[in-house]
Amino acid sequence: MYRTHTCGELRLENKGEKVTLCGWVQRSRDLGGMTFTDLRDRYGITQLVFNMETNSSICESARELGREYVIQTTGIVAERSNKNPKMSTGDVEIIVDSLIILNVSEIPPFTIEENTDGGDELRMKYRYLDLRRANVRSNIILRHKMAQATRSYLDGQGFIEVETPVLIKSTPEGARDFVVPSRLHNGEFYALPQSPQTFKQLLMVAGFDKYFQIVKCFRDEDLRADRQPEFTQIDCEMSFVEQDDILDVFEGLTKHLFREVKGIDFNEKFPRMTYDDAMSYYGSDKPDVRFGMRFTDVTDKVKGKDFVVFDSSEYIGGICAEGCASYTRKQLDELTDYVKRPQIGAKGLVYARVDADGTVKSSADKFYGQEDLKNIASAMKASPGDLLLFLAGDKRKTLGALGELRLEMGRRMGLRNHGTFAPLWVVDFPLFEWDEETKRFYAMHHPFTSPKPEDIKYMESDPGRVHANAYDLVINGTEMGGGSIRIHDSSVQSLMFKTLGFTKEEAQYQFGFLLNAFKFGAPPHGGIAFGFDRLAAIFGGSDSIRDFIAFPKNNQAKDTMIETPSKIKQEQLDELGIEIKKVE
Ligand code: ASP
Repeated sequence: MYRTHTCGELRLENKGEKVTLCGWVQRSRDLGGMTFTDLRDRYGITQLVFNMETNSSICESARELGREYVIQTTGIVAERSNKNPKMSTGDVEIIVDSLIILNVSEIPPFTIEENTDGGDELRMKYRYLDLRRANVRSNIILRHKMAQATRSYLDGQGFIEVETPVLIKSTPEGARDFVVPSRLHNGEFYALPQSPQTFKQLLMVAGFDKYFQIVKCFRDEDLRADRQPEFTQIDCEMSFVEQDDILDVFEGLTKHLFREVKGIDFNEKFPRMTYDDAMSYYGSDKPDVRFGMRFTDVTDKVKGKDFVVFDSSEYIGGICAEGCASYTRKQLDELTDYVKRPQIGAKGLVYARVDADGTVKSSADKFYGQEDLKNIASAMKASPGDLLLFLAGDKRKTLGALGELRLEMGRRMGLRNHGTFAPLWVVDFPLFEWDEETKRFYAMHHPFTSPKPEDIKYMESDPGRVHANAYDLVINGTEMGGGSIRIHDSSVQSLMFKTLGFTKEEAQYQFGFLLNAFKFGAPPHGGIAFGFDRLAAIFGGSDSIRDFIAFPKNNQAKDTMIETPSKIKQEQLDELGIEIKKVE
């Protein structure tokens, strides 16, 4: 037996016991007569004491211990005179009488402490050392708890966890596929699933009624802080359900996770907002509703006063930043620079301040009298001390830019802190999305999403106005999950493919298996998938999903620890019938 206890276990009650611990040497302090060593394992840190007076030989060997040496040590639990209330084991220490070095360690490339001196790159290269750090480890443990709580909740609701294959044919989630060449069938390829979408629908045709899976998905996309080429979904599907049934079950799951993992109770129903409202009031289909600051459309109020900027704009919208009238010229210039950044793309920023006596002062004073300005301020429910910010231009772009400005103001005003959670369902998404570049419609969710029955009549004549039975769960401005009620009627499915510009043959080639399955009695069904990494990151109060993945890829989609992607041998290429061509 290597150990009697873990390094996080001993308390005052254990005083006087003889114990054996194993772990890694976090650090040693040699104070001449005494050496103190922090011994670490997954469970915590325990202080070891080596005393020169009582046991000089063991104290000598303790002096040899380097950082990250793996040791086994036996001693008596003693009460510490100098207690450390920050550590769960901080009341005790071990007076060591035997020490065995189980393994030595090279000097680690960075300090293995919460506040490490290691930069991102180095930590990723030595991720197994990074994972020894308590804060990194606790993220992975949080993720584990969430996975367990998800399984137990869904199992309790009658869901069955089914694994679906990883070597498949292209899935319709709209990203680029990762492909795997086939050796047995040279020139042919598998695609890695962007999601198990088609399989979970087949499971409904198969009568499984309620399916879930915590599953890896693969999308070859440009990376961001909240995207990885492989990521995990809590993927679900149910039969004989309508939108409300799905929202109820998965609101239940979300509340269960908050309760079990974070100890937070949501007693109210999550608010629901239509996509159209989300866009008009927040300029985003994933509004952060931890704070208000909704947009006011002032187009009609401000046009026709000879202010060319506004007169030539399709849309003028504003937000009211409470208590920010004292913003300095410098701060306003910063905001102007912020909205003019190419990613945001506004041409400029117009502002107005409401003074303590109610007078409104604006950067466009020349064109607006006090009465006009007061009218606008009152339409925006502004009070003395508030700052009003306006953007103008093409409607779609301006709504988006105003959304970014709203988030920036929320950040500056401290309204977006990690400890507050504001879940929201966004519903009634459009079925299609027009792409200017390719001049065609794409499915906003995916091509199996069902249109609202009352909108089917516009599928051919005016696809842009068709709404879908599609929904997203948004928490704190991040899309946590999305899903839809599916099409189970083959004529509607054909219409869908037609609108998306598929010929019959193309539809048959890509999704023939599903269309065929639908000929054999497909039940009405629908589902949802949660981004599990994102959910873990939000629960952990971080913006980066990488912190919640044990072995993530970097922002160039590389794993620098195992050094992949990497070249393969010529023999392997030959077997696959593949010749590498240089791409510029
Ligand atoms: N397969 C969809 C996705 O990955 C989710 C769903 O429709 O259930 O976004």
